[in-house]
Amino acid sequence: MPFPALRCPVIPDRLRSLEDISGSIRAVQGLMPDQQNEYIQRAESYIREERARRDRLFEVDKREWLMALEELGDRAAKTDLRRVAINLKDRSEHGDGSHYWYKFSNTNHLMGWLLKKGRCVYCNADLVRDGYIRDGRATTDHLVPYCLCRELDRDYLNAVPACGICNSLKWNMDPRK
Ligand SMILES: [Zn+2]
Repeated sequence: MPFPALRCPVIPDRLRSLEDISGSIRAVQGLMPDQQNEYIQRAESYIREERARRDRLFEVDKREWLMALEELGDRAAKTDLRRVAINLKDRSEHGDGSHYWYKFSNTNHLMGWLLKKGRCVYCNADLVRDGYIRDGRATTDHLVPYCLCRELDRDYLNAVPACGICNSLKWNMDPRK
């Protein structure tokens, strides 16, 4: 008898751990153990392929990023940052990567990333080279929180790269106080 279609816990954009998925599959009522195992195996092979796919895309993102940093050199004039940020977004839109850089809808945020060379401003983790962007653990933090000063959202000096952990620790703390 064929197994019913795989309706389990689908894999969302941010990759869940296999433990999560196995747990969800085991929680589905009325599955026979061999069905559970079949689903878990399918999820396993899906995750393996998805990881490999994301690794390939990530290599393109990383290459584009390193080229942008190189192009920028040590100059950090606002006009240079803007030009390089726009180029990076553009390459990402038309290239064969994961289109990560294109996702920055606000060019000023990408300028802030370039200015800080993609390092978490709080713990100094290298968000690009160390795979934070690949794993969905990279964020842009508003130094002065967005809820306190919306005008600064457009200021590249206020948009800083931050790893997910530091960003959630900082939360809405206002560094001016
Ligand atoms: Zn950090």
